[in-house]
Amino acid sequence: MEIVEAESRGVHYWAVDTWAEQGLRHGFCGADIDILTGQEQWERAFSSPGAEARLLLLEQVHGKEIARIGDFPGSTGFGNENLPGASIAEADGWLVYRGGAQLNSCFFGIKTADCFPVLFQGGRGELAGALHCGWRGSCGGILREAIMQACSLGMRAEEIQIAVGPGAQICCYCVGSEVAEQCCDAFERSGGCRMRTSQDVIEQRGSKLFCNLRALLTAQAVSCGVLPAHIVYSSHCTICDHRFFSYRRQKDLSGRQVSFITGAFHSSNM
Ligand SMILES: [Zn+2]
Repeated sequence: MEIVEAESRGVHYWAVDTWAEQGLRHGFCGADIDILTGQEQWERAFSSPGAEARLLLLEQVHGKEIARIGDFPGSTGFGNENLPGASIAEADGWLVYRGGAQLNSCFFGIKTADCFPVLFQGGRGELAGALHCGWRGSCGGILREAIMQACSLGMRAEEIQIAVGPGAQICCYCVGSEVAEQCCDAFERSGGCRMRTSQDVIEQRGSKLFCNLRALLTAQAVSCGVLPAHIVYSSHCTICDHRFFSYRRQKDLSGRQVSFITGAFHSSNM
């Protein structure tokens, strides 16, 4: 299980090798497409013969609300039959459960520029999702929320696989003392201080503090029972790698990259 480079009609993106082999269409795009203006371009690039790709996006607000799609009780009301167009809800994540064939060409997208996009799947295609994880959402526990919701549907945490995409990595992600403190608190609440990993959530270099949000996300997932071997990471840093949009580097001129996942496996051999 590894994140590898891929390409669709000239658009570069990154994907989890084993998920792609299983027929789960998903990926982390970079700056080839600014999804704020390029949704049609994206849909053209990822359509397949007879199945026009349809990308659904959220009104993201750095919270921990998750839009739920599919066949389960207590759905937030976005039924399969009436999935509306873009920006359907204020939420920072998608949880798709038993989406079924009618969702085959629907892609659930997350926009980012430095925040981490997180994709997950479990139960051999029964469950898939995408999350927008900046420091606020991560400290607020959006990943834990997604895993708990999945488990409440009968999924076991050991069945869930998680891919953390390109974001602001510890090489560049300088934060103020208040953010650092909140990240440390959240890390400790997730048992992070007991993990004995070489990486901590905050690293001090001179007078500056750098944040390793990946470590916090990992601690949260592992504390919920996800196996460390079921978590993979992109090593790309959006701030220093110019193949990505970065709000830190480009300020208001920054576009947004999209990360996406479908709600169902496409392969006929599943
Ligand atoms: Zn960097």
